[in-house]
Amino acid sequence: MINVTGRTRVFGIFGDPIEHSLSPRMQNAAFKKSGLDALYVPFHVLPQGLAAAVAGLGSLSVGGVNVTLPHKQAILPLLDRVDADARLIGAVNTVVVRDNQLIGYNTDGLGFIHSLKEDLRFDPAGKEVLLFGAGGACRAAVVALLRAGIRGLTLVNRNLDRAAQLVERIAPHFPEQAIRVQGFKDPAFHERLSQADLIVNTTSVGLKGEELSFCPLQKIKTSASIYDMVYSIAETPFVCAAKQRGLAAVDGLGMLAGQGEEAFLLWFGMRPVKGLMKNCLVKLRETNS
Ligand code: NAP
Repeated sequence: MINVTGRTRVFGIFGDPIEHSLSPRMQNAAFKKSGLDALYVPFHVLPQGLAAAVAGLGSLSVGGVNVTLPHKQAILPLLDRVDADARLIGAVNTVVVRDNQLIGYNTDGLGFIHSLKEDLRFDPAGKEVLLFGAGGACRAAVVALLRAGIRGLTLVNRNLDRAAQLVERIAPHFPEQAIRVQGFKDPAFHERLSQADLIVNTTSVGLKGEELSFCPLQKIKTSASIYDMVYSIAETPFVCAAKQRGLAAVDGLGMLAGQGEEAFLLWFGMRPVKGLMKNCLVKLRETNS
């Protein structure tokens, strides 16, 4: 149990719904292990209450919060400053309260790259990547992959306009790297799939145990790696099917831990104990499965 005193600093997460969030468990475990007099709590914030909740952060001396659905975009204009990459992504998942200023960051992309390296042993530099999706998680991954020096990427999304808008927004900042949009029915899709070194699912398909039916695994080269951002109480069907074909594949649990580690670093100026957040999530999954 955390020994709460008058000096304990409060952190937390804003979301609606919030009951399912695993962040309180992994952040409190990290606070405790690092000997911090700090507590992390879930805040159930409805969309109509977001502005008041954000305005209250400074007055309540809250140290910082994470932000999850549906507030990641709506919070931007409510902050004093937003980090350049979070602005480019168009979403904030971490707020730091410093000198009465609210500063927004997005740690999803860094958490993703961290998990790629730790969990898949995949170094993105110079690689060819294909991503399914074009939503918020995809934008964070695209910016992080381009910053990590990938050679080129292909976006494959159901709604092609949405994918094209993503490219229009981000491509001018990365003129040296190739960014393409492809439809599922486009004949070049299979060719791109077979050339990719890394295939990433950033869609929400798999959350309810659905197969990723639009991804023909037999087209993927055997040396390629698979990253499924979706995570749930068991490994996703996409990860299971990829592993059955002998491909290296992981789900999004490591990314969740990675974005949490980056938020911890922003709040405390130091890293949590290595691997602690991921281990905490794996244990939670084992006890719930
Ligand atoms: P989002 O903005 O709502 O985007 C959802 C994406 O999924 C869109 O590209 C959408 O395509 C696509 N999609 C949904 N249903 C589909 C279907 N039946 N067939 C094909 N495409 C479909 O969501 P998000 O915030 O980016 O999150 C996406 C996923 O990433 C979620 O499962 C979320 O849990 C996960 N995530 C994980 C982490 C982590 O730490 N591991 C962090 C962030 C997000 P259209 O544009 O065509 O509608």
